[in-house]
Amino acid sequence: MQYINQFSNYRKLIAGIDTKVPLSNSRYSTAINFDNAATTPPLLPVLEEIIKFSPWYASVHRGAGYKSQYSSQLYEDARSIVADYVGANLTHHTVIFVKNTTEAINKLSNRLLSSYGDAVVLSTCMEHHSNDLPWRNKYQVDYIDIDQEGKLSIEDLQEKLRQYRGKVKLVTITGASNVTGYKNPIHEIAQLVHEYGAEILVDGAQLVPHAPVNMKSPDDPRHIDYLAFSGHKMYAPFGTGVLIGSKKAFKKGAPDYTGGGTVQLVTHQHIQWLDPPLKEEAGTQNVMGVVAMSKAIKILKDIGMEEIEDYERGLTAYTLKQLSRLPHLQLYVDRRHVHDRVSIIPFNIKDMPHDLVANILSQEAGIAVRSGCFCAHPYIQRLLNVPQDEMQKRIEDPTLPHPGVVRVSYGFYNTYQEIDILINTLHKILNNKK
Ligand code: PLP
Repeated sequence: MQYINQFSNYRKLIAGIDTKVPLSNSRYSTAINFDNAATTPPLLPVLEEIIKFSPWYASVHRGAGYKSQYSSQLYEDARSIVADYVGANLTHHTVIFVKNTTEAINKLSNRLLSSYGDAVVLSTCMEHHSNDLPWRNKYQVDYIDIDQEGKLSIEDLQEKLRQYRGKVKLVTITGASNVTGYKNPIHEIAQLVHEYGAEILVDGAQLVPHAPVNMKSPDDPRHIDYLAFSGHKMYAPFGTGVLIGSKKAFKKGAPDYTGGGTVQLVTHQHIQWLDPPLKEEAGTQNVMGVVAMSKAIKILKDIGMEEIEDYERGLTAYTLKQLSRLPHLQLYVDRRHVHDRVSIIPFNIKDMPHDLVANILSQEAGIAVRSGCFCAHPYIQRLLNVPQDEMQKRIEDPTLPHPGVVRVSYGFYNTYQEIDILINTLHKILNNKK
């Protein structure tokens, strides 16, 4: 409870907070946004930065004019801001700007092909599809299991590393699950993975906006080799993401996308690639998006990632306590785990479709949540114990409803009062159901 006053002030940073909902048929003047795991709202200073920069933006690295020079400077400064935010070191690492986490992971899976060959990539049963599908059909992929509580099984990771000894080149793992919010012990896993001579990619989409992240020095056995995340989940607009890895990894071979901006010199017989990161950023870049994301990062740093994590942990613990008191409510996480998680909570009301609950929350109380499988079908299948033949039926008949859960996910601007409205509305739903 210690940060409540401090964080209620930060609420003012959110664009459009407490203003009228722009839907003409809405019964609510204001809305409660508990869908931050999908996308966070932009920060006002980020929008102001965009407006301030608008008269000055130009294509980066292309012109001698002052606009291009200024844009290029801000764009390159953003790499240092990003690196500093996640403990990367620009003498060793390269910060590559991409569209989002999905593009970052696809890029890495393409770029590692030449050095990894037919290696084994270990993914996990709790991944978002964006950290599963890009590895399939390129590598031999196996999945690290989860335990009874839906948390990653470190025993199974050890077992698989032993089983594929010498063949595993990469373990690709989410920093925090977009379904359960469970955080993985990424540094403990990194140490283990390095002992087996493999590398680790952390999908930071749900971790980086909600907790401090430190990739650590490459001499540290607990370091993270690759990190990917998205700006739109950290209070910046859509269209900007980040992939970080060693310069060495990207120096080798041709980039996956080629074209303008990637080369030093071209003849019809020869291509001389630029060094990373430029060689990995083909075409005209989203300089406006990068400037906006770096502003959002500065603000998150000013607030303090530890403080944000603590505050959101308070919101989560409070919600778990309240939800676990409701009858007929099925929680898919253990309420005792408040320290190894981000602020994402999945639940269902027994015998009520998840999408119906989500719609009632929206219509009755203007609370935006998400329901369904959240691009993590295998994880939902496991958490809900859906047998394979049930999934098969849905593959054969796409009209059958999908299994799923209701998900609430918080940002640093959400409040205890908003959670009380959620709990009261759930009470009403449960009472009407009787
Ligand atoms: N990884 C995780 C854990 C996510 O939650 C998401 C999006 O929800 C992604 C990857 C994909 O992010 P994006 O859609 O920004 O590429």
